[in-house]
Amino acid sequence: MTTTRLREQLGDRLVLPGDEHYDRTRSVWNAMVDRRPRMIVRCATADDVAAAVSLARELGLEIGVRCGGHSVLGMSVPEDGLMIDLTPMGAVTVDPAARRARVQGGALLGALDVAAQQYGLATTAGNVSHTGVGGLTLGGGMGWLARQYGLSCDNVVSYELVTADGERLRVTRDEHPELFWALRGGGGNFGIVTEFEFQLHPVGTRAYVAELTYPLEQAAAVLRGWRDLSADAPRQATFAAALGRGLVTVGYVWAGPTEHAADLLPALRSLGLPVTENVGELSYVELQTREDSPEGHAYRRYWKGHYVRGLPDEAIDAMVEHGDVDMGISLQAYGGAIAEVPDDDSAFSQRDAAFEYVAAARWSDAAEDAERMAVARRTAAAIESFASGAYVNALSDEGAAGVRRAYRPEKLDRLTAVKTAYDPENVFHLNHNIAPAARS
Ligand SMILES: Cc1cc2nc3c(=O)[nH]c(=O)nc-3n(C[C@H](O)[C@H](O)[C@H](O)COP(=O)(O)OP(=O)(O)OC[C@H]3O[C@@H](n4cnc5c(N)ncnc54)[C@H](O)[C@@H]3O)c2cc1C
Repeated sequence: MTTTRLREQLGDRLVLPGDEHYDRTRSVWNAMVDRRPRMIVRCATADDVAAAVSLARELGLEIGVRCGGHSVLGMSVPEDGLMIDLTPMGAVTVDPAARRARVQGGALLGALDVAAQQYGLATTAGNVSHTGVGGLTLGGGMGWLARQYGLSCDNVVSYELVTADGERLRVTRDEHPELFWALRGGGGNFGIVTEFEFQLHPVGTRAYVAELTYPLEQAAAVLRGWRDLSADAPRQATFAAALGRGLVTVGYVWAGPTEHAADLLPALRSLGLPVTENVGELSYVELQTREDSPEGHAYRRYWKGHYVRGLPDEAIDAMVEHGDVDMGISLQAYGGAIAEVPDDDSAFSQRDAAFEYVAAARWSDAAEDAERMAVARRTAAAIESFASGAYVNALSDEGAAGVRRAYRPEKLDRLTAVKTAYDPENVFHLNHNIAPAARS
């Protein structure tokens, strides 16, 4: 099909190299990603999405699906392929009486939080408001409400989906049940979600944060005490810690009514002599935006992550020994409602995780790429022997081995069967890919 025909058909939804918005539309969170799609289709409706899938197949182009653009590898941007840009589909509609939100497939987390908070409602969403609902929810979705209400994917009631054949499906626990199972944790492998319907919860509008920072010399003792406090914490409290640049910060985030939010503070304070304290109440929306990047998508990025079922003293020692690095090493507690969902209820495979560990590097100079990535790999390798798996949404360049860390063999078999049924030609493969079974 000629460019002129495409222009006639798609109008300003088509963005080509050289167009005014081309560079802005192809840029994503990780500034290392500099791929150049042959064309970008900015989709405003599910019909646009279906047409873009058909067009890519007709032209034999690889498809990248962009929501928030926050996958670590920038998988939504295909080199010389067709990028399906869902960002025009960013609307959120809340039904406060039914406690439901309809969220378009290109929406960012901030839009969901703000819309639901008008009614004192929320559902589990990640910690950074410019992350996409699409990628985050399809891989699982961890956030400060997850210990109370489960992962984001546990709160999805229905999906509107465009398949590799351009067919539009409504997917619920009863309609296409295997696909419903796979969409909850299996990532963007099975189709393009044009709308998520979420269950909302009456969490109110307040939150509380307690963060105490200590010199690295005290890190081992402080982290042991913090780990022990986390084990008995109420579900409103999600324990989090950060290590790096000569310091350790430990504490918790409390989501929901704050009457008892400070109850854990004396025990936290007794862990040592902090050099700084950041303690106080804030609104839930402030909580959900306080880790946003004010500098935009300016940094080059690389991550290595693990799940651990526990943090034995030896794991803490290994982490501290390799912790004096110029990057952020973070720990976030799981448990509570996440672990209560029966394991075979969804594709997400890591419900027994006690903590997620991520070593996250960021830098500006391309000349440092190799060294920065090597340090992140080495840092994370120090605790690999304690790892029980990995979060698919935190994977970077581990390829098929990473996918095997994210899903246990029996889940991978079941995911492969769903993939074979719904996308036998692997049209949606720019993701942490679950390959369909080979055709006989
Ligand atoms: C700064 C930052 C903070 C983060 N915080 C958290 C957190 O608190 N909790 C957490 O769980 N994760 C977190 N993550 C990880 C995050 O879940 C993943 O990076 C996720 O892939 C981001 O989704 P996206 O839509 O922004 O990314 P994109 O790059 O746009 O999409 C990633 C992939 O998801 C698929 N996809 C996206 N939307 C759709 C759709 N509508 N239909 C079908 N497929 C789709 C595609 O395969 C696409 O390649 C964070 C990541 C970053 C960079």
